[in-house]
Amino acid sequence: MTATARLASRFEAALMPTYGVPPVALLRGEGCRVFDVDGRSYTDLIAGIAVSSLGHAHPAIIDAVSRQVRMIAHTSNLVMHEREIELAERLLFLLAADGRVFFTNSGTEANEAALKLVRRQQGPSRPVIVAAENGFHGRTMGSLALTGKESIRAPFGPFGVQVRFVPFGDTTALSHAMGPDVAAVVLEPCQGEAGVIPAPAGYLRTARELCDQAGALLVIDEIQSGIGRTGNWFAHQAHEVRPDVLTLAKGLGGGLPIGACIGLGTAGTALRKSDHGSTFGGNPVACAAALAVLDTIEADGLLAHAAAVGERLANGIASLTHPLLAGVRGEGLWLAIALTRPVSAAVETAAREAGFLLNAVQGDAVRLAPPLILSEAEADAFTGALPAILENAVSGGSFPPVSQEA
Ligand SMILES: *Cc1c(COP(=O)(O)O)cnc(C)c1O
Repeated sequence: MTATARLASRFEAALMPTYGVPPVALLRGEGCRVFDVDGRSYTDLIAGIAVSSLGHAHPAIIDAVSRQVRMIAHTSNLVMHEREIELAERLLFLLAADGRVFFTNSGTEANEAALKLVRRQQGPSRPVIVAAENGFHGRTMGSLALTGKESIRAPFGPFGVQVRFVPFGDTTALSHAMGPDVAAVVLEPCQGEAGVIPAPAGYLRTARELCDQAGALLVIDEIQSGIGRTGNWFAHQAHEVRPDVLTLAKGLGGGLPIGACIGLGTAGTALRKSDHGSTFGGNPVACAAALAVLDTIEADGLLAHAAAVGERLANGIASLTHPLLAGVRGEGLWLAIALTRPVSAAVETAAREAGFLLNAVQGDAVRLAPPLILSEAEADAFTGALPAILENAVSGGSFPPVSQEA
């Protein structure tokens, strides 16, 4: 029995069945390489779902986190600590905007904070939130109410939030959904869980205009798209829009759990004293990790790097021809390989057997969201391996075992 199989049976017996039993158990990582408990190694092209932005065991994160744990690991919000203030200042600086930040521990909590902010600013006469079909905003009750995927939402309703869903990218449908009862429009600039579906050009701009006309707030969920993923600090910056509220998480902490709800302009002070709180939110260790992520992205030019390597990877994939390959979409190091048939699970398995971790995000799409430090050589190695991966996905064939280094 392999070490993976032993962990799988313990996992199945002790953990809730929410995730099924994953096929891999990772032991450690180094850069874009991860090692499993049976000594197999993989190139990590998913980074824990767009989280490990600097890859694994990055010295900047190790140093920042160890230094902070030695100083003080937790304070609560009964006291101040400088890392939290510094991180808020840095995020506002990167947004080039006036505003205020509330820190959380996850993406869904950032969206819950955004929902409370919207309620507080707009009051009870505007009970409706407009959100997009197939959008994903998290699993807690408020964020789940906004999530436009019927299968994960339906078993848990009714919700305390009234949501009007519109097809993503359709400006006419959006304009019809607006009215004096709408408090906010909540959108991803590119729908991650739906399969990395970018908003059509001009869509966010139109959403901004429609919000202004209706007196609604524009909430942009950049939990997956933010912090360099698309080659910009924030994906919405390429659309030349300014949100009223921006939510972040995933890549911000580089693997440490942290989220942020940022209110810009007057939205920054909509939540007043005692309106919201979190024991762990703004935790010093998580803030120190996030500052290390921002410093390293800046110092190492990782925005330009993500844009360039992402383009190289997308162009490489697009240049291949294979009957399973329908195309590639996305921006920066955030791509989906579109398939002509719903065989993404087989592609994920074949890729893993070939030594690459990626994610079957939809039946007909696999997602790549590698660390922002992915090298050209690592990108090229995947492009080179992809035809055989697709071939094995259809034939059910198997690769020779991947390298046994540990
Ligand atoms: C992952 C994600 C969330 C939820 O974040 P969690 O940390 O899993 O709660 C919300 N919105 C988007 C766009 C996401 O990708």
